[in-house]
Amino acid sequence: MGYNSNMSTIYDLHTHSTSSDGTTTPTELVRHAAEQALDTVALTDHDTTEGLVEAAAAAREVGIGFVGGVEVSVSWNKHVVHIVGLGVDPDCQVLQDGLTILRAFRNWRAEEMGRRLEKAGIADAFEGAKAFSNGILIGRCHFARFLVKYGYAENEKKVFQNFLTCGKPGYVPGQWAELEDAIAWIKAAGGQAVVAHPARYPFTRTKLRRLLTEFSYAGGEGLEVISGSHNRDENFTMAKHAKDLNLLASTGSDYHGPENPWRKLGRFQALPEGCTPIWHDWVAPSTINAISA
Ligand code: AMP
Ligand code: MN
Ligand code: MN
Ligand code: MN
Repeated sequence: MGYNSNMSTIYDLHTHSTSSDGTTTPTELVRHAAEQALDTVALTDHDTTEGLVEAAAAAREVGIGFVGGVEVSVSWNKHVVHIVGLGVDPDCQVLQDGLTILRAFRNWRAEEMGRRLEKAGIADAFEGAKAFSNGILIGRCHFARFLVKYGYAENEKKVFQNFLTCGKPGYVPGQWAELEDAIAWIKAAGGQAVVAHPARYPFTRTKLRRLLTEFSYAGGEGLEVISGSHNRDENFTMAKHAKDLNLLASTGSDYHGPENPWRKLGRFQALPEGCTPIWHDWVAPSTINAISA
């Protein structure tokens, strides 16, 4: 069992840019992927495809494979679950209509988070978080960066623990996409749906199996077996689920930028034996639905 850094092909199919809560621009991200000798990178920003055209152009310039993606926020059984779409055509209206609704909720939520944090004694959090974002899409990470900068917590992890998770002052619950809708939008856009970082959900084995069964029934195809947010045991557990349920296996770092030294582009364990990679039937140059613009 090797590590990807020793393999000839590295597919990092889960990354973020400044179009959502990453800190590198789409161009910088793709150039960094080329420097790291990745074969193919997917850009999968939260609820937006805004960065795809820029990233695709940068990938052509540096000569690496590029997959246009998106990470869709879903509410499932009172939990937030993330569904990655790979190979989506950003010109698909069905997809864009869905993502537009999610971003509208996101922006209302950001204002509401600001109001709730204000009540908890933290002034100007909305404006502060917005200043860390591109001004269009504001997520919890932008609040985290603001709160760390102004000394409300020592690091982003602590901010999430103390302010931004369920039951804490800045947490705003809400309705994201239905699982079936997210899959339908991705498929309408010609993409493949993948359950992101499956070991991160607070689910029992039975509940995860139920999610994966419903996901598969609704047309979902892939499971992120290898994730930058999984440990080694979790990767192997997810490989087993993928094999048992005939889901294609994906690999992704969930890279958000160089600030996090534990999560590097393309630096993760190789897929365990017996998994069928999600890219097994992709055509050269390692992309599905190559973006032309
Ligand atoms: P949002 O979609 O705006 O609710 O934010 C979700 C994002 O917050 C995730 O994609 C991660 O980037 C980040 N995140 C969630 N939980 C944590 C945590 N415990 N520590 C650090 N970052 C987190
Ligand atoms: Mn994120
Ligand atoms: Mn996620
Ligand atoms: Mn992600």
